[in-house]
Amino acid sequence: MENRNDFKTAMITGATGYVAGWIVKKLLEEGFTAHAPVRDPENPDKLKYLNALADQAPGTMHYFKADLLEEGSYDEAMQGCDVVFHTASPFVMAVNDPQKELIEPAQLGTRNVLEPANRTPSVKRVVLTSSCAAIYGDNADLALTANGVFTEEDWNQTSSLAHQPYSYSKTVAEKEAWKNAKAQDCWDLVVINPSLVIGPGINPRGTSESFNLIRQFGDGTMKAGVPDWGMGVVDVRDLAEAHYRAAITPGAKGRHITSGHNSSFPELAKALREHYGDAYPFPKKALPKWLVWLVGPIMDKGMTRKMVSLNVNHTWRADNSKSVKELGMTYRPLAESIVDFFEQMTQSGLVPPAK
Ligand code: NAP
Repeated sequence: MENRNDFKTAMITGATGYVAGWIVKKLLEEGFTAHAPVRDPENPDKLKYLNALADQAPGTMHYFKADLLEEGSYDEAMQGCDVVFHTASPFVMAVNDPQKELIEPAQLGTRNVLEPANRTPSVKRVVLTSSCAAIYGDNADLALTANGVFTEEDWNQTSSLAHQPYSYSKTVAEKEAWKNAKAQDCWDLVVINPSLVIGPGINPRGTSESFNLIRQFGDGTMKAGVPDWGMGVVDVRDLAEAHYRAAITPGAKGRHITSGHNSSFPELAKALREHYGDAYPFPKKALPKWLVWLVGPIMDKGMTRKMVSLNVNHTWRADNSKSVKELGMTYRPLAESIVDFFEQMTQSGLVPPAK
């Protein structure tokens, strides 16, 4: 299938973030002009990694000031863009006010990014970074699926403000995007639904929850063990490729589960132990569910007993075949992703030195 070689200018929201950093890299390498609306374009510390990418690639970077919560703030950055990647959305688990900290930037932010596309005739396609969290709420939801596997047909029906608010934010944001897409015919929407993203960051000390989670495997936090919690995993570099293909593949449409592996916490720990041996205090065993239920919410502000009940000792299984067939995706081995990620953390000092 022919690609859209006429696409040359792209807007990317959340460019300072973990997932978008690799999308920016890919675009710059392909010679794109990248428009990056960021909250603080005057902050050299936040932009230095993106600037370093631009210095080494044929494409060019332009920064704009914008905020997901400000209506009209993306108009300027969108001017002349063929494609819009909407990636910005808070990915945090421990919040005090889920409505303000998660739902508003996700849902209102999506509206504020997509509405200007209706008045920007150059925009032909929008690629939205949604999540597998918009497909399912808890692992127990596997029982609600037609064939015991999550597919693009499934929608998260179980998350709410009170239970799994991050997943709820991604669900309402994706619904908002489809509502906006269906109300016009100037641009089409292609959605990427990643599972847990791992792999090295463009910024080696990223603030995404992905860093927080994988760091805890090696800094001693999890040395007593991990819950047997099933999840999907995808490499951040493969995910950037999926976004790029979603933009330039003319026939791409709908949602795409973008997940390399059906995995679990114990499996991630095993991959690290196989590579590093005992050099770091990696978890060696799966904790009994009753113990996680009792102690988990005390140790981790983002965890509740309901979450433990519906996810621990539950398998996670998703069908990534649409991304393989329609976007031509291949996924690198899980061990490569987690080891490259952890290696970066050791070098940037995010985890204490090896024994
Ligand atoms: P991240 O590194 O924390 O990036 C989030 C980005 O959103 C940052 O660039 C941040 O900008 C921006 N942002 C947050 N609030 C904003 C606001 N009010 N206005 C403008 N920008 C704002 O997280 P990430 O992991 O890359 O996540 C990126 C996307 O991937 C999200 O949509 C997330 O839901 C999705 N996703 C992530 C995972 C994963 O495992 N990481 C899995 C599935 C889906 P600042 O630099 O200014 O803070």
